[in-house]
This record gives sequence, structure tokens and C-alpha cells, in this order.
Amino acid sequence: MSTCAGRVDEGSGGEPAYKVGFADIYTLYPSSGIIASLLLNSNRPQNWRQMADKENKPRAVELFSGGLDSILALKLIALQGVRVTALHMRLPFAGNAGVDKLEELARWLGADGFILYRPEDEFCRILAEPVYGYGKNANPCIDCKLMLMKHAKGLMGELGADFVFTGEVLGERPMSQRRQAMDILERESGLTGWLLRPLSAKLLPPTKPEEEGMVDREALKDFRGRSRKPQMALADELGVSAYPSPAGGCLLTDPVFGRRVFELLEHDGCTVEGMRLLPHGRHFRLPGGSKLALGRDREDNDALLSVAAPGDLILDARVSSPVGVLRHREGAVPDEDLQLAASLVAGYAKPQEGPRVAVYVAELTEAGDDEVLPQLEVIPADRLDPDLRRMMA
Ligand code: SF4
Repeated sequence: MSTCAGRVDEGSGGEPAYKVGFADIYTLYPSSGIIASLLLNSNRPQNWRQMADKENKPRAVELFSGGLDSILALKLIALQGVRVTALHMRLPFAGNAGVDKLEELARWLGADGFILYRPEDEFCRILAEPVYGYGKNANPCIDCKLMLMKHAKGLMGELGADFVFTGEVLGERPMSQRRQAMDILERESGLTGWLLRPLSAKLLPPTKPEEEGMVDREALKDFRGRSRKPQMALADELGVSAYPSPAGGCLLTDPVFGRRVFELLEHDGCTVEGMRLLPHGRHFRLPGGSKLALGRDREDNDALLSVAAPGDLILDARVSSPVGVLRHREGAVPDEDLQLAASLVAGYAKPQEGPRVAVYVAELTEAGDDEVLPQLEVIPADRLDPDLRRMMA
């Protein structure tokens, strides 16, 4: 077969048209090359007493992830009579699932306000070029936290809050919770003196909220390191019984997801639409540069349809078939990529008797409608080439 990936529907024979690497995101090169897999401002009030509410209570903004540390920090500070607004961040690839439960939890812990923050282009810039680099995977934690802390500082002004606090524990995380990184975060966010870490406060210099008597330093903690035992004991003491396990958390710390992120950055640059696609389905990089995401099951199919963007092509063989979302960074998808994508959709669909399978194609418009395009009749990819078949297994 020739090296032209656009003719994958012509059948296979002789030299394999593609070769296969490993999973996660599959990069498909023409046969001279291959399917190599790559898995394919605020100003803080001049005087907090001026800004205290009518009950003369100080007010604070907490960076609330919903993890155990931020839960305990919120409870400790709320117990001191501080009015807390919980600030929760969701990155562009994360949906809103569970946000309502987190708001309930924050309010149960004593928060009297809850704000959801969804950085988009701002986060893309950070992900593409983090000033402080990445952690072990695609997690730009220092830049990410700095962005969140700057947002919290802006909220201080809007809410008339007195300080910001977090659930950070000294030495718990290798990147952003080293003392040096914590100092950078405090200084660069403009929160010097007004950023309290209640769980490690006794190991750190006193902050202004402690010095001015808004918070009792004696009731704060001296936790350090990666062990969760002190936090679990405190949770017992405070009557907090339900909290997430440490295994969950940010997808950017996952090695497989991280490879998808770096592949996106390399081929398409960082776009919000590109990030939204990343968590769902199997991903393929096609010879003409297009990206194909294929649902593995109904849940994936629904998720892919929900994050498809105007200009994306939606492919569906309508026989227990995955939904495919196909896009090219420059707009029009090359015909060779469209043909190959249709073959892959057909290859993962319920097997059909005839030699070719009909794949329906539609383009998502700006108005959110589907513009139906000519249907394709293709040979399923698993019948085209043994390497493709092995890759799809
Ligand atoms: S783990 Fe994820 S959300 Fe948390 S600071 Fe790092 S990049 Fe940001």
C-alpha cells in the first residue's frame, strides 16, 4: 500500500501502511513512517476593624479544593468566628460535577460564601509556559497556585475580606509546598503577611491576622510532611468523618493524562477546546495533523458531544459505534484524515457483514446545530492493516 494515509479505505496488502506504537494517544504516520504511538488588587483594608461586618467578625477567603487539608483549615478558621468565603477552582478540562456537593460541604464546615473560579485562557498560558516549570507530570503547580492566589487577592477587595488562607502543609507536596515555594507564592501573589496556612502556622512566621488578633495562633497547627496521620486525628477531633482519599485529585498529576497534555501542546498549542477534549475517550493524531477523539462507551460519547466545539466534525456509524470528534488546528480537516477517522469509527463499531460501513458525518456550527455532510462508505480500520488491528485490540 502506498504511503498515502488518505487511501486507507483501499484495503491492505504488502507492506503495512501503518505501524503501531503504544497506547494513550496514537499518532498515525503514513507507512514510510507509521502509527507511532504516543499514547499518542485589592487592596486589603487599611484596618481590618473598619471592614469587619456588623458583628465585628473578620472575613477571609479560603482556597478550597475540597481535599482533607482545605476541609480542616476551613473548619479551624470558621471555629474562630471568622466569616469565610470558600473559593473553589475548576480547570478547563474538568466539568462542574460535584461542585454543588462541595458548596454544601463548605457551608456545613462553616463557610458563609462559596465562589467557583474557572480560569480558561489564563490557565492555557500557564500550562504552555509555566514560569516555575512542571512537577513530575504536566502539573505547573506553582504557577497554578499563584494564579489562584492572585484571584483570591482580587476577591479580598471585592468582598471586603481581611486575609486569605489555604490548607497547605509545609513539606507535604514536593513542588508547591516546599518552604521556598511557599515563600514565592506569598510574595508573588502580593499577599505578604496576609496569607495564613492554619495547618502549619506554628512552623511559619506569624501573619498579620494572627498579630492583629483576628485569629488565635495558639489554636492553629504545626503539621509538616507527607504523613496524613495528624490530619486524620484532627478530622476525628473536629467531627469531620467524610473526606476524599488522597489518591484522587488533579488530572495534571496523572502520567497518562500528562502525555496527552504535552502532545496537545506540541501539535495544537494550548486551547481551552483542546483541553476540554483531553479526559474523554481514545485519542489519535492523524497523518494530516488532525486530532480524533473516540468514545469508549456511552458515557464517553456523551462527554465528547458535550465538549465538541464549532467546526468539529462528528462521526458516527450508528451501529453500537463510538462517537468520533475530529478537528484540525487550522480549520478544515484534510480529506485523508477524514477518511481514516471514519475507518477508525467503523473499526470500533459493532462488526458489520458487508465490506464497507456507512459513517455519518456532521459539522458542529457556531449556533450549536449539526450541519450534515456527505456520508462516507469505508472499510473498517481493523480490516485495513494488521498493525491497525493490533493497535485497536
Ligand atoms: S495539582 Fe493541579 S490544580 Fe493543584 S496546583 Fe497543581 S496543577 Fe493546579
